[in-house]
Amino acid sequence: MWEAGAESRPREALERQTLEGLRRTLGHVLAHAAWRRRLDGVEPGDIRTTADWSRLPFLTKDELRDAYPFGLACVEPERVLRVHMSSGTTGNPVLNPYTRADVDQWATVMARCYVAAGVGARDVVQITPSFGLFTGGFGFHYGAERIGAMVVPIGAGRTSLQLQLMRDLGATVLAAISTYPLRLIEVAREERFDLGSLRLRVAILGSEMWSDDLRRLIERELSVTTFDIIGMTETGGPGLGIDCGARDGIHVWEDHYFCEVVDPTTGRPRADGEEGELVVSTLTREGLPLIRYRTHDLTRVLSRDPCACGRTHLRLDRLHGRTDDMVIFRGVNFYPRQIESLLLKQPGVGHEYQIVLDRAPGGSDRLALLLEARDGFAETGLPRLRSDLRQYLNLSPEITLLKEGELPRPPGKAVRVVDRR
Ligand code: ZN
Repeated sequence: MWEAGAESRPREALERQTLEGLRRTLGHVLAHAAWRRRLDGVEPGDIRTTADWSRLPFLTKDELRDAYPFGLACVEPERVLRVHMSSGTTGNPVLNPYTRADVDQWATVMARCYVAAGVGARDVVQITPSFGLFTGGFGFHYGAERIGAMVVPIGAGRTSLQLQLMRDLGATVLAAISTYPLRLIEVAREERFDLGSLRLRVAILGSEMWSDDLRRLIERELSVTTFDIIGMTETGGPGLGIDCGARDGIHVWEDHYFCEVVDPTTGRPRADGEEGELVVSTLTREGLPLIRYRTHDLTRVLSRDPCACGRTHLRLDRLHGRTDDMVIFRGVNFYPRQIESLLLKQPGVGHEYQIVLDRAPGGSDRLALLLEARDGFAETGLPRLRSDLRQYLNLSPEITLLKEGELPRPPGKAVRVVDRR
């Protein structure tokens, strides 16, 4: 562990620390008029238990957007070292201003994540998310520097060069957006690059949903152990939590973040083990503290018991999807990851796919599935795929088979759903 005392603190001590952190964050935000208006009349002394906390109003992404650029920031501009920004497609972006203490906090939680993934000072870490307003690149960078690893800060894109450097510099750790390994595998195949010449042993992946099937594929093709890291711009970037070698859930650093899981419709708390929406409060962030921020991510609390790895911080299930990426088609609900899991089980089908929804001239919804398949798949595999889609998801989409490489490969996150309705 990076901070063994903090990471293996007994539960009662962790919970005391949580309460202190919640009161401290509340006191900090209430010094600012915009927050006083939001939380009218609440005082830090009102928070005696975490149940008291759950009576505070949720903070939504829309509120953060409306506060653009710094309406809910809790720090004077001269104390801000840098800003990061969330990648939204509509409306104002969300900005997160970082103080020196925030950058330090980020490096600490990222260092813990690296160590949980078995990474140390002797490792060579190739950082493939972009360095810029997106939090990915810098987060991996600060954590890797903190543990004393050698950093290759190449950033996004230039996949041929990525492979070359990975081989020639002996990279042992790949830090990436979850679907980027697929691009590496693809380019290696196109260019007859020998993946066996790499020394990678660990891949730390996040920022997108990735199914267990995709995880197995990446581990097999790249001969790595993967670790699932979570976090978002609003919480201060990647580093909210990561799964450990026990692979028994994602540890969330409870001395920095307080997590609740709530019913996405009613907002009421969900019992441990039940799926719901993840709500995050920050305990140590200065620039943009969060009080009950609705992440839209679906997960559940797996355990609050000590883990086989020795850490005591609570474990969440891998994120299952987002409340806002659930697709509703003619009364049937599904998540893109469910389609992905089915596709990865079909021999002859590539890993890229796109779900397209639109409206027929008559007004009814149409669902099309675009995928890349090897020659002959239409005869050998397509009937089974249709039957699986019907049987498991109750879907009968129009299926278009493309050749490998025909679907777009955007430089950042993959686009799985195009909704034109
Ligand atoms: Zn563990």
